[in-house]
Amino acid sequence: MDKMFVSPDTYIQGSGLLEHSAEYIKKLGKHILIMSDETVWKIVGDEFADYLLDNDFEIEKVVFNGEASVQEIERITKIAKDKKVDVVVGLGGGKTIDTSKGIALEANTKLVIAPTAASADAPTAGLSVLYTEDGVFDQYKFYPKHSDLVLLDTKVIANAPVRTLVSGISDAMATNIEAKATAMKHGVTMGNGAATFAGRAIAAECERVIWDYAYEAVESNKNKVVTPAIEAIVEANTLLSGLGFENAGLAAAHAIHNGFTAVKGEIHHLTHGEKVAFGSMVELVLEDTPHDVLDKYINFWLTLGLPITMEDTHLDQLSEDELMQIGKLATAPDETMKNMPFEVTPEMVVNAMKAASAYVNAYRKSHDIKPIFERK
Ligand SMILES: [Zn+2]
Repeated sequence: MDKMFVSPDTYIQGSGLLEHSAEYIKKLGKHILIMSDETVWKIVGDEFADYLLDNDFEIEKVVFNGEASVQEIERITKIAKDKKVDVVVGLGGGKTIDTSKGIALEANTKLVIAPTAASADAPTAGLSVLYTEDGVFDQYKFYPKHSDLVLLDTKVIANAPVRTLVSGISDAMATNIEAKATAMKHGVTMGNGAATFAGRAIAAECERVIWDYAYEAVESNKNKVVTPAIEAIVEANTLLSGLGFENAGLAAAHAIHNGFTAVKGEIHHLTHGEKVAFGSMVELVLEDTPHDVLDKYINFWLTLGLPITMEDTHLDQLSEDELMQIGKLATAPDETMKNMPFEVTPEMVVNAMKAASAYVNAYRKSHDIKPIFERK
């Protein structure tokens, strides 16, 4: 298997970046389709569109319907083609971004990704996670080309809900956990090759930055201020996690996350990153992680108020049969569970979910944890 390293063309990060991004975007074209959901249009979208209009761009505004589905990609692609735009800008969260990738490919335009939250590691990746219109995991869609430009405005992100940053930290924390498993297996990365040392180093650096700066970044976010810590965590959540997972992962944590879509219920009120926290915890249990190492992660997740038990994720309300559905989907042949260094069966997934919960609940009883963030 060939080693491979993939990435977007350019990544730019800075405070107030969207307000001075014309010089970067104009290299790609002047006729722009901006897609955002209704909320994001109000928060930053309209202002951003006005700024570009003032800088001689031609703008088409599109309201994203909220689901990253094949149907939504088709709908907006038609608009992009009819208007003959040069550039598609995906402005918003993970699903907006993932949809914009599909549109740029189908409409054959340049692609700019402008996340309004550092909530997941989708921005730099050359793939989308697509869902059915009902929100069930549909497929990983792989693209022949990455985005042309990723714009991370840390002022926008410092003003986003704290829950989005915490979710992104959790998604980023999974990166090295899964990269290490994939390396042990000599598995195929999401970039569809063997991992390079570069990819593995980025995943490891992602974890280091999180240990060093996560709590300070959350405090910055609570106070809506851009600080070196929030700059560090924005880079960890997007660039390091994004390049890390694509060039060195994924493994059990995300396979289990995808497994959750086999069932209905309250778990789906959780964000991607929150579900990945429990997936990561379950992966560590599957790997038979020594308790001193495991405790450090548990303390971290609980300090951030992340859900890492069946009770926290509402999976305790499910029947044995439903839990087994999760186990089956998580271990489906094309799932990234295949990057675990040993074979994982549906029963092992279910048992590890239960064991993880029991252990965390015991940990909670014997430790005084003071979360710095709590979901409402
Ligand atoms: Zn993820």
